[in-house]
Amino acid sequence: MSVSAQQPALRWLNLAVLCLPVLVTATLVPWYGLAHGYDAVEWLWFVALMSYCEMSITAGYHRLWSHSSYKAHPLLRILFALGGAFALQNDCITWASDHRRHHLHADDNDQDPYSAGRGFWYSHFGWMLRDYPATRVDLRNAKDLLKDPVLLWQRRHYLALLLAMNIGLPVVIGLVHHDVAGCLLLLGFLRLVMSQQFTYLINSAAHLWGKRTYDPNQTARDNWFIALFTYGEGYHNYHHTFAWDYRNGVRWYHYDPTKWLIKVMQWCRLASDLRQCSSYRIEMTRVAVQFRQALQQCEQLNEASRWREKIESEYHQLVSSLEQWTEVQQAWYQAKSQALSHELQQDIAGIKQRYQQLKQDMQQQRATWQQLLAHVRTVQLTPLSS
Ligand SMILES: [Zn+2]
Ligand SMILES: [Zn+2]
Repeated sequence: MSVSAQQPALRWLNLAVLCLPVLVTATLVPWYGLAHGYDAVEWLWFVALMSYCEMSITAGYHRLWSHSSYKAHPLLRILFALGGAFALQNDCITWASDHRRHHLHADDNDQDPYSAGRGFWYSHFGWMLRDYPATRVDLRNAKDLLKDPVLLWQRRHYLALLLAMNIGLPVVIGLVHHDVAGCLLLLGFLRLVMSQQFTYLINSAAHLWGKRTYDPNQTARDNWFIALFTYGEGYHNYHHTFAWDYRNGVRWYHYDPTKWLIKVMQWCRLASDLRQCSSYRIEMTRVAVQFRQALQQCEQLNEASRWREKIESEYHQLVSSLEQWTEVQQAWYQAKSQALSHELQQDIAGIKQRYQQLKQDMQQQRATWQQLLAHVRTVQLTPLSS
C-alpha cells in the first residue's frame, strides 16, 4: 500500500504517555545517579521488577492469552494482569487482539497493526502514535478473552492499576528503603522505558535481522541476540511458524527464560496443558525449507539436473531415516511406559538398540545433507565431480 500524503491524526495521549517517561529517563535518572547514586538493593529491585514486568508480557499477554499455548492458575493470571499494567502496554484484551491480527496478516501493511513492511520505526514505535486504520481497536478476534474475568477486571480498572503499579509500588519500596525519589526514578521510569523498548524490538528488529529457518516467506527472523533482551522472544521465525508452541527458543540451549518460567510454573502446579510441536514436525519443516532453497540455488550451477538429482536423493534418504527414527522412538517410549514384565524388559532392550542405531544413521545422513547444502552454496559454478 502506498502511504497517503495526508498523515493520519496524531494520538496525543499515546505520544505523551510514551514520550514523557523517555524524557524523564534521559534527564532525571542520570542526574539523580550522579548527584545521589543508586545502591545495590535498588539495582536488585530493578532487575526483579524488570523481569516481572517483561515476563508478564511474554508469558502472560503473549504466550498465555494471545496464543493459548498453556493454561494458568488464577493466581498466576492475576500476577500477569498486574505485571501487564506495570509494563504500560495497554490492557491485555486489546494487546492480544492486535497481536492476533499481527500473526494473521503479518507484513500486510493494511491489516497488520505493526507491519514490518512499513519500516523499523513504524513497527517499533510509530504505529502507536497516529490513528492508522490497521491499529484501530477491533475485538472480534478476542471473544474468548472477553469472557475472562481476570482480563475484564484488568480492563475495567486499567488506569488505577497502572498508577498503582508504576507509581504506588516504587513509592512504597522507596519509603521502606528511605529513598523515594531514587526508587521512583529507577523502578518507575527507567524500568518502564527499558522494558517497553525491549518489547518493541520484537516487532521491529526481530522482523529485520536474523535467519528465516522455518518460513522464508515472511519477515519474522530467528535472532539469539534479540532473545537476550526480550526474555526469549527473539526466535521469532519459529514463533510465527508454530505460534501455539509455549516455547520460542526450541532447542534446550536456546536462551528463552519465558519457556523456563512456564516449565517451572508447571512443576509448581500453576501452569498446565503446555502445547509443543513435535521434534519430528520441526525438523521436517526445517529440512523442507533447506530442500526448496537448495533446488533454487542449484538452478544456477553447471549440470543443474545432476545436482537436482543428488539433492532430491539425499533429501528423500534424510526424510526416510527421520521417519524411521521417530517411529522407533515412539515405540521405545511406549514400551518403557508399559514395561512391567521380564519379557517386555527384553523387548525394550531390543527397541533401544534399534533406536540408537537409527539415531546414528540419521546423524550421519544429516551431516551428509549439511555438506551437500554447503557445497551447493559455495561451489556455484563447479561441475559435479562424483
Ligand atoms: Zn512478529
Ligand atoms: Zn505471537
